[in-house]
Formats: sequence, structure tokens, C-alpha cells
Amino acid sequence: MRIKKLGLLLVAVTTLPAWAAPDIHWSYEGDNAPEHWGAIAPEFQTCSKGQYQSPIDINRVIDGKLPELKFNFHTDTKTIVNNGHTIQVTVKDTDDFELDNDTFVLKQFHFHAPSENHLFGKAFPMEAHFVHANKEGELAVVAVMFELGEENKALTPILASLPARLDRVEDMKQSVDMTALFPVSKHYYRFSGSLTTPPCTEGVRWLIMKHPATLSATQLSTLQHALKHANNRPVQPLNGRIIVD
Ligand SMILES: [Zn+2]
Repeated sequence: MRIKKLGLLLVAVTTLPAWAAPDIHWSYEGDNAPEHWGAIAPEFQTCSKGQYQSPIDINRVIDGKLPELKFNFHTDTKTIVNNGHTIQVTVKDTDDFELDNDTFVLKQFHFHAPSENHLFGKAFPMEAHFVHANKEGELAVVAVMFELGEENKALTPILASLPARLDRVEDMKQSVDMTALFPVSKHYYRFSGSLTTPPCTEGVRWLIMKHPATLSATQLSTLQHALKHANNRPVQPLNGRIIVD
């Protein structure tokens, strides 16, 4: 516990929020692919040494009678960037939910194609990660799986705002109806994990929506074209972790 707190302090001192990676090159292919992340830099060693890493395959679940998650959506998206690892949308600090008698505020959301987490051995064409933090900077990531089906109305303005150039942060041209990015049922699986990108920091509360949302084949190919490559880290060992729903 002490060590974890120290880690958070260090992140704070270097002024990077816990969800932002230090500026060291890594990728999903070749010499800097996921299996090598832990060796790229000392800052990334948790990627290989960590015991509670994400993503995972959710295959054994303990019934904890968790209630549905209650989101307070009342804001607009702010900026969008293609940082070469993902398409990331930053939001104003006004969307939140209550968990563990604490408030977790949405900081950004981004996309992985194909999905990183698996549900009972199954991968999905896309997964969205909604990265939230409490006042102490502890993270809670809400994940939504997407399967092919009807066009997703919330994705349309996001895909229309995709910057042409890498690392160019642009203002969102239209607002996004956040509720349409989520399934109607807000039941979820919960477990403890990590960031799925370097520095693979642990102590992240993961909440994975049980039911997928949809996107159209055209929307998926637009996103894949912008990403240029798959951006999913392979599933990691559970190492005795418990998944509750
Ligand atoms: Zn992610």
C-alpha cells in the first residue's frame, strides 16, 4: 500500500496525470511491441513485473449483486487527438459517477480495435475506455464493448472530427451524446487491473459493461483506417484476481 501511494506521488510530482504516459516511444508492433514494453524503460517495468495487469479475459465471475452504475452525463466533449496509439477525446470535468463512497470524474475516453478485454473468451471489434479519476488521482476505467450492428449516433460526430494529422489536438466540431456510447443496461463486471498502455500502472478499478453497444461496419473501418494498426494489448494472466458482477 505504501509503495502504491508513493507511485501516485511521483506521478503527481512529474506533473503528468496518472492516465498520461511519459514521452518514451512504444508501439503495438516490432521491437517496441507489448511483449517488450517492460524492457523499453525503467518507467515501464510494471508492464512485465506487474501481477495485476490489464486487459484480461473475464471467464469466472463471482456474484456480488453489484447495482447498475449511475452516470451523471451533462457535458460536452472538448478536444480530439490521434496520438498514434489511439483516438482520444478529452471532456470537460463534469461527468461523473459514485463508487466506493467516492466520486470519479471523466477525464478522457478513447478506442481500441479490436477489443483488449475479452468476455468469456470472446473479443469484440472495438472497445471504448472511459478514464475517470477521483480527487486523489486514483483511476476507474469504464469499458464498453462494441459489436457490429446499427450505426452509433454518438460515434458519428467523433469520426467526423478525426484530425488529419497525428498528435494534432483539435476542438470537437460537434457535441457528443455520451449516453449513446453506452448500452442501456449499466450492469458491469468489476476487477482490479492496470493501464493497458505503458507505464502499465496498477491499482486501476476496472468496470466492464456486460452488454455491448453497436457500431456500423463503415464506422469501424473509418476508425481502423485512422488507427492504421490494431491497438490492443494481449490479455494478461489473472494471477488469482477475483471478478465480481
Ligand atoms: Zn485504453
